[in-house]
Amino acid sequence: MTSKVYIGLGSNLSEPLMQVKTAVEQIATLPETVLVATSSWYRSKPVGPQDQPDFVNGVAEIDTTLGPMALLDALQELEQKHGRQRLRHWGERTLDLDIIVYGELSTTLPRLLLPHPFAYQRGFVLQPLAELAPELQLSGKSVSSWLAAVDTSDLRQIGA
Ligand code: ADP
Ligand code: MG
Repeated sequence: MTSKVYIGLGSNLSEPLMQVKTAVEQIATLPETVLVATSSWYRSKPVGPQDQPDFVNGVAEIDTTLGPMALLDALQELEQKHGRQRLRHWGERTLDLDIIVYGELSTTLPRLLLPHPFAYQRGFVLQPLAELAPELQLSGKSVSSWLAAVDTSDLRQIGA
């Protein structure tokens, strides 16, 4: 069965825009997966420690028959390929790939919480996601209605 999945991308180290654009190309080559669309890219202020560079964020939409765990494995492998190191909680990273929504799946597994537990309150997820799927239901409301309720003044669109 094919599932529609939205992946949040983020980077704030080692040429962030290059990191996320390369990651999208790599996502497009994952097995059993078709890249459907990519949002534009946004610059955002870090959540958590403030003594780190701004992030570049965006969202990719895929159709995949990979199961949720296989997809998470593949995305974590990509994070590793980009030299990701776990330095501190919500700290700097070369590449962060979060599964925001996997079809209509809802889980509470610590390794894979779906929908992503913070997506609905983060402008840097909601703004690019709203470009692709404003009517998508996320934790009980549409993406566009969540977006209307969050502060996006720190977001700057930096290109398609
Ligand atoms: P964060 O994205 O919150 O900054 P990390 O990228 O370091 O944190 O991920 C921490 C853990 O979150 C990972 O080991 C992963 O298994 C888990 N995780 C839980 N739910 C998800 C999800 N929806 N997408 C990606 N990772 C998730
Ligand atoms: Mg993550």
